[in-house]
Amino acid sequence: MAVSASSAEQNKLLEIADLDTKLIQLNHQRSTAPQITKAHDLEVELGSIEMKIVAAQTEVADLTVNQEKAEADVKQVADRISKDQSRLDAGQATPKELEGFQHEIATLSKRLTELEDEELIVMQQLEDATSALSELELDRDRVTGEFELSKQALELKFADLDGQIAQLGAARLAAVESLPKDVVELYEKIKSDQGDVGAALIHRGACQGCHIALDATEIDRIKSLPPDTVVRCEQCRRILIRNSESGL
Ligand SMILES: [Zn+2]
Repeated sequence: MAVSASSAEQNKLLEIADLDTKLIQLNHQRSTAPQITKAHDLEVELGSIEMKIVAAQTEVADLTVNQEKAEADVKQVADRISKDQSRLDAGQATPKELEGFQHEIATLSKRLTELEDEELIVMQQLEDATSALSELELDRDRVTGEFELSKQALELKFADLDGQIAQLGAARLAAVESLPKDVVELYEKIKSDQGDVGAALIHRGACQGCHIALDATEIDRIKSLPPDTVVRCEQCRRILIRNSESGL
C-alpha cells in the first residue's frame, strides 16, 4: 500500500532532512577537525624526539665510559712517571738503573702527552653529546607542552561538536516520534540508499535533493495530487515535499 502523509507530516520530514544535513556536516567536521591533524603531527614529532633522546643517551653513556678509561690511563702513566721520578730523586740506585729510570720517564712522558690528547678529544666529544642531549630534552619538553595543549583543544572541539550533535539528535528523535511508523520507515530507507537525506523540497521547479528540474508534465501531475499523497522524485527517489515555498 502506498504511504500517505499529511502536509504537516511531510513538512516534518523536511525538518528531519534538514537535521540530517546538519548532522552530516557536524560529523564531517568531527572527523576532519584540523585539531586532529595537529595533535597527530605533534605526537609523531614527540615520538621521533624520544627516539633521538634514547640514541643520545646511549652515546653519552658510551663516551662517559671512554672518558673514565682515558682518565684512568692518564693516571696510570702519570703515577709511574712520578714513581720513577721519586726513585731518581732518591739517587740510591746504580748509575745504570738511574739511566734506566730517565729513559723510562722520557718514554712515559711521550705516552702521557698522547693519552692526555686522547682524553681531551673524548672530553670534547662527551661535552658535545651531553649538550646535544640537553637540546633534545628541551625540544621534548616544548613539544610535550604543545601536544598537551593540542589534545585539550581537540577535546574542546569534540565536546562542542558532540554537544551540537546530541542536541540535533534529540530534535530528530522527537520529530521522528511524531510521525507514523510507515512514513518514517520509508524516509529511513531512502536516506540509507542515498547516503544523506530521504526527503527534499520542490523549489523553483526542481528537486532540492538531486537539483534536477522536474518537467512541466510532472509538475502538473504533482499539482493535481491530493496533499497527503507522498510524491517521489523520479530521478533520485527522494520524497518530494510541497509547501508554500515550492511555488507550485
Ligand atoms: Zn531528486
